[in-house]
Amino acid sequence: MHRRKFLSLLGGAGLASAMGVTKSQAASGHSFNGYPDAMGVLHDSTRCIGCRKCEEACYQVNDLPKPEKEFKDLTVLDTKRRTDAKTYTVVNKYNTAGLEHPIFRKQQCNHCMEPACASACFVKAFTKNSDGSVTYNGDLCVGCRYCMIACPFSVPTFEYDDAFDPLIQKCTMCHPRIQEGKLPGCVEICPKEALTFGRREDLLGIARDRIRKYPDRYVKHIYGEHEAGGTNWLYLSGVPHTELGQIEVGKTSAPELTSGALGAVPMVVGIWPVLLTGAYAISKRKEKIAQEEKAEAVRATRESAQEEAEAALKAAMDKATKDKAAAVEREVKKAVAEAEKAFEEKLAAAQAPAGEADTGAGESPEEEA
Ligand code: SF4
Ligand code: SF4
Repeated sequence: MHRRKFLSLLGGAGLASAMGVTKSQAASGHSFNGYPDAMGVLHDSTRCIGCRKCEEACYQVNDLPKPEKEFKDLTVLDTKRRTDAKTYTVVNKYNTAGLEHPIFRKQQCNHCMEPACASACFVKAFTKNSDGSVTYNGDLCVGCRYCMIACPFSVPTFEYDDAFDPLIQKCTMCHPRIQEGKLPGCVEICPKEALTFGRREDLLGIARDRIRKYPDRYVKHIYGEHEAGGTNWLYLSGVPHTELGQIEVGKTSAPELTSGALGAVPMVVGIWPVLLTGAYAISKRKEKIAQEEKAEAVRATRESAQEEAEAALKAAMDKATKDKAAAVEREVKKAVAEAEKAFEEKLAAAQAPAGEADTGAGESPEEEA
C-alpha cells in the first residue's frame, strides 16, 4: 500500500474511533453520515417568544451557577450574548428590517453529525453518541483547547476562572435525561412548542412540512440540515438565518475538510499528540513552578510577619520595663524626699532650746514642789 494512503487511512481511523464508527467505515473513504436513528431538536424561531424559560430549565437541569440577573428579567435580551462555561444556552433577540416585532433564537451546541471538536481532540475527550448528542469527558481532557478553535460555531468554552481543574463546558443535549427516556430540559419547559425533540429524520420531515404549508412564514432553508456536514440541532426561520446571527459554514464537515490535510502532511498524525503532550507537560511544569513560588511567597510573608511581631513584642517589653523603672524611680524619689523631710524635722527638733524642747512635756517635778 502506498505510504501516504496508509497514513491518510490511519488519520481517518483515529478520527472514526473518536466518533464511534468502525474502522471499516473509516477505511472505506466515505464520510460518516451520522447515526440514522439519532435524535435532535428543531427550533422554530417563528414560535419563540424569548421568554428564557429554556435558559432557566438548562440552569436547573445542569445545576449551573445562578446568573447575575433573574431569568424573568428580559432586559438581558437587549444585549447579544453567547454561551459560556456557566451558561450552556442563551436566547438572543434580533430586530430585522421590514418586521415590526423582534425574532428570538436560542443557541447552544449544535451537536454536529461529524463534530469538529471530537476530530480535533487527540485524547478523545468528546464522543458522538448514537442518540445524536456530543458529550465531553473532563477526565480525559488535557486542556489544550483545540476543540474551541475547531468548532465552527464557537461553542466549547473553558473554565478560565477555575485555577485548579478547569474544564471545557457546553450543552450535552441532556444526554443523561435522554438515556432515561426524558426530554431535554429546554424542550420540556418551552411553553410555545418552539422546540421539538425527535428523530433527526422526522424533524427534517416536520420542518419541510411547515415550509410547504406556510411558505409566507418560513424561508426555504432548514439550518443544520447540511451545515458543517449536518447537525442534530435544526432551525426554522422566517428571515434568512444569517440575519439571526447564524454563520454560513458550508456543507463540508470539519473532519472531511482536514482529512486531506492530514493525508498530505502525515507527520502531523504522529507528531501532533507528542507536541500537545509536550505542551501539556510544559503547562503542568509552569503550574508546579507557580505553586512553588506561591508557597515561597507565603513562607516569606509568614517569616516577615513573625519578625515584625517579635520586634513589636520586644518594643512593648522595653517600654514596660522603662515604665516600670520610671515608676520605681518615682517611688524612690518620693521615699527619699519623705525621709529627708522627716530627718529635717527631727533635726530641727533636736536643735531647738531645751525649754522649747520640753514644751509639750509639761512642768518639771521640782517646780511642782
Ligand atoms: S457545535 Fe461545536 S461543540 Fe457542538 S458538536 Fe459541533 S463542533 Fe462540537
Ligand atoms: S422556552 Fe421556548 S419560547 Fe421560551 S425562549 Fe426558549 S425556545 Fe423560546
